[in-house]
Amino acid sequence: MKNESCIFCKIISGEIPATVVAQNDDVFVIQDRAPKAPVHYLIMPKVHIENVKELEEANSHYVAKMMLMAKELSKKLSGSQSFRLIINNGADSGQSVFHMHCHFLSGKTMTDF
Ligand code: AMP
Repeated sequence: MKNESCIFCKIISGEIPATVVAQNDDVFVIQDRAPKAPVHYLIMPKVHIENVKELEEANSHYVAKMMLMAKELSKKLSGSQSFRLIINNGADSGQSVFHMHCHFLSGKTMTDF
């Protein structure tokens, strides 16, 4: 379930440090080291799934778990409690870490798409 060359797997296992925001049995949340908004979290499954293209019936529940974690994180936001979720899939979409993750962005007005 762990990919030895994956930086996010190494963060989840504690080999590489990161600022951990939350976790449960299924998902792990860290602060993005290069935040694009005042709040920028990365929500990821604890198992290695490259991206949405690798989803199957058997691992699809991780997506729901990621969304439920986003809901929990949103309850702690101050202000409007608006947030944006982004999942990049493939290098041309901007994916640079090939362990599926959802960007959780908040704390500023985001009108551009
Ligand atoms: P993506 O480009 O969608 O694959 O997003 C990868 C994100 O991971 C980027 O926003 C990076 O800033 C972030 N990132 C990469 N390495 C680390 C790390 N060691 N700790 C925290 N965030 C990271």
